[in-house]
Amino acid sequence: MQLRTYQSESIFHLREGFANKHQRQVLTLPTGAGKTVVFCEMARMAHTKGTVTLILTDRTELFKQTIKSLNRVGITVEEISPNKKNIYDGATIYLGMVETLKRRKNLSIEPNLIIIDESHKGNFTSILEKYPDAKVIGATATPVGKHFFKYYQNIVQVIDVPELVSSGYLVKCKAYQMQDDFSDLETKSGEYTDYSLLSHFDKAVLYDGVIDWWNKYAFGLKTICFNVNIEHTIKTHQAFVAAGISSEYVTSKTPKEERDRILAAFTAGHFQVLNNCGILTTGYDEPTIGCVIMNRATKSLPLFLQCVGRGSRALPGILDGLNTNEQRLAAIASSAKPHFILLDFGMNHDRHGMWNEPRLWKLKEPKEKQETSAPVKKCGNEECECLVPISAKECSFCGYTFQISESTTKEGIMVEVTPKVPSGLVGRRISDLTIDQLIELEKSKAYKSTFIWRVIRSMGKDTIMYYAGIKGYKKGWIERQLDGMDDCEYTDYKLVG
Ligand SMILES: [Zn+2]
Repeated sequence: MQLRTYQSESIFHLREGFANKHQRQVLTLPTGAGKTVVFCEMARMAHTKGTVTLILTDRTELFKQTIKSLNRVGITVEEISPNKKNIYDGATIYLGMVETLKRRKNLSIEPNLIIIDESHKGNFTSILEKYPDAKVIGATATPVGKHFFKYYQNIVQVIDVPELVSSGYLVKCKAYQMQDDFSDLETKSGEYTDYSLLSHFDKAVLYDGVIDWWNKYAFGLKTICFNVNIEHTIKTHQAFVAAGISSEYVTSKTPKEERDRILAAFTAGHFQVLNNCGILTTGYDEPTIGCVIMNRATKSLPLFLQCVGRGSRALPGILDGLNTNEQRLAAIASSAKPHFILLDFGMNHDRHGMWNEPRLWKLKEPKEKQETSAPVKKCGNEECECLVPISAKECSFCGYTFQISESTTKEGIMVEVTPKVPSGLVGRRISDLTIDQLIELEKSKAYKSTFIWRVIRSMGKDTIMYYAGIKGYKKGWIERQLDGMDDCEYTDYKLVG
């Protein structure tokens, strides 16, 4: 299996975590970074050591393709599905849905490794309690939820959205936010109620607004639109149709055959806008989507990121066989989808910041307010008007330069505090730093340890051993990590203060 550098690194850090007695670990990779590939490789490696692995996922379709390739190299993968009475108990990899597993009380499998897909959902805790000794990898793009703190000891994050974009694995997002007043919304259990959302959004002026903005910013793009609930989904669909724009919708009530037909027609480009209300968030993968509409407000950062992430993939096949950041960025820039458009009608950017802002996830006890988000501002070029982080000095889409007075923060908005690069290193390129300077940079926390480690690795074995000595890593361990390590690649920055 051909892994990307950051995918190999994820595996490297997971193994490091297990070696350090972290029995349960969270693997966080953004949407579109290829979690499935990482899992299947972990399962394959476990198989070679005779370890029995259980993969829990709601997206069995996604896994079946990858698992076929494991079958081809002689690895038995047994699917635990509702209609299958007898489960072969001599397999090394089991694949099943959480709900099916819960119902199979007398299942006689003993996994040593459990891999959980979309672990933020938190519906698998009874399974963790059933196998208290198994090693666990809980994968998610958004590790938000109390259960993470309760069940896991370590979190592995080697890459986040900004770096995936700057490395040409995901496409840039050009975002627009409609200003609105949401003081009428009611909150229950941490999220706005459907009722108050519907009464806010169910207004002719807002249906018209969606159409106007789509015509202005996203005309002709294949679009996925996330609405409040079924009623709002149908009405938004009708608004598109009334405006002469081809549209379909799927909801939880859409029969499976009909849903399959609609999704296939969307992939084939037979209509323009696909409306839904939350069923196409996780596990739906359609790289040709060129525009995402958030036609709702949400307090949930995971929901916001999952919805937006649907637009972030590069067009199918264009990255195949490309090995450097420059090649990938050039391929994306010259493709029919150099970026995707995000139309936000819920002012979610004021709550959660930009989709592509750095997010460093930590396992910590939940507090009242856990998320701080960098606020956003509009590009001052009237022809552009897309959103940029409030700290931006220029717009990355049109090149507009902000005057200092324009970037002063709004009253009452929290500003993200970023760690500082040591002053002696400002102006230097990462690739010019000595090992000791890299360690100084790591200590400043201006760059993640995983990033520093990647740079160290690219400097060769002597540097790795020197670094390992300083960090107190055991020699045997580090030599194991050196086995089969690919060439390292990192984005070379000029350090700014
Ligand atoms: Zn601009």
